[in-house]
Amino acid sequence: MRWDATTSGSAKAPRFVPAPFGTAVMRGLRNRCPYCGVGRVFAGYLSLVPECSNCHAPLGRLRADDAPPYFTIFLVGHILVPPVFWVEKAYEPPMWIHMVVWLPLFTILCILLLRPIKGGVVGWMSTLGIVSVEDDEEEAPPAAVAPPPRGLPDRNA
Ligand SMILES: [Zn+2]
Repeated sequence: MRWDATTSGSAKAPRFVPAPFGTAVMRGLRNRCPYCGVGRVFAGYLSLVPECSNCHAPLGRLRADDAPPYFTIFLVGHILVPPVFWVEKAYEPPMWIHMVVWLPLFTILCILLLRPIKGGVVGWMSTLGIVSVEDDEEEAPPAAVAPPPRGLPDRNA
């Protein structure tokens, strides 16, 4: 699938047809381009590819920002906090047992879930059309500014 150039307002900011919400999120969760479902979303663990290798959608411009860690912490907390309370209530283990067991579990689960959740958020962003515009805006050269006058103003002039 290519960009829909027919609805493009300008050559620099092509518009594209996003997939439906559920499809885009599921594709993102599976590390697939939310637009075509073929190309990959991630170049590394969490860094996005600049553009899809298949449809050339600028995936690197879909900014997930802080949403993936928020959703990851929310989900992992809801998965692990009930067992923490259950173990405490049932066995009353010493605090060091809690630290040795639960902290690594929280860490591992967050590491495992952060990437697919970020992919899902990128898919969600694609349906909303939220892209960064920083790359599109060409910076105008700074206007020449006269230096401020030095010293006191000349009262005789
Ligand atoms: Zn694609």
